[in-house]
Amino acid sequence: MSGVSADSREPLVGVLALQGDFAAHARMLAALGAAVREVRVPADVTGLDGLVIPGGESTTMTLGIAREGLGDPLRELAGAGVPLLGTCAGLIMLDRDHLGILDVTAHRNAFGRQIRSFEADLELTGITHPGTPLRAVFIRAPWVADHGSAVQILASVDDHIVAVRQANVIAVSFHPEITGDDRVHAAFLDLVRARLNGAAG
Ligand code: GLN
Repeated sequence: MSGVSADSREPLVGVLALQGDFAAHARMLAALGAAVREVRVPADVTGLDGLVIPGGESTTMTLGIAREGLGDPLRELAGAGVPLLGTCAGLIMLDRDHLGILDVTAHRNAFGRQIRSFEADLELTGITHPGTPLRAVFIRAPWVADHGSAVQILASVDDHIVAVRQANVIAVSFHPEITGDDRVHAAFLDLVRARLNGAAG
């Protein structure tokens, strides 16, 4: 891990817990040294240093966000520069047609019925070192069909974009929480800690 100063506090990372596999994200973040809070209502967003939007079912998650009034608090969190990580359905939630936090349009279930689920070895710019790909598990995954110029492409599969970063927001089409490989979460926590250390200094 990069230089964490001795006096920096443990980051508080929220995991959107309306639906989906939030528990696996919480376990991985806790193992990497974060304090974790499950987020279900707007009050849970207050004071977060980072937020993960997990995979699951984007239609159900959209309804939950609307029901709980979480859209504005989540947009304000991202707008304040707090790092966000969206995975699979979480990538869809971040796009132009949902929360509007990322300047991308996601295509749901993009890999089609024939290959609903598959695995691929991916090199992710800024996250994996060259020659040490990450085993990525895709489950009815979206891809990024269109994106603005502020969006950096981190990885593609067959020329389809499956991982992006835009400023403080990382989004991936796959499920980094279900393998033992914690490099996506570690890169996200590096952003969280860098921001905390910057704010403290
Ligand atoms: N296909 C799901 C959706 O559109 C996403 C799948 C996932 O998160 N594993 O919401």
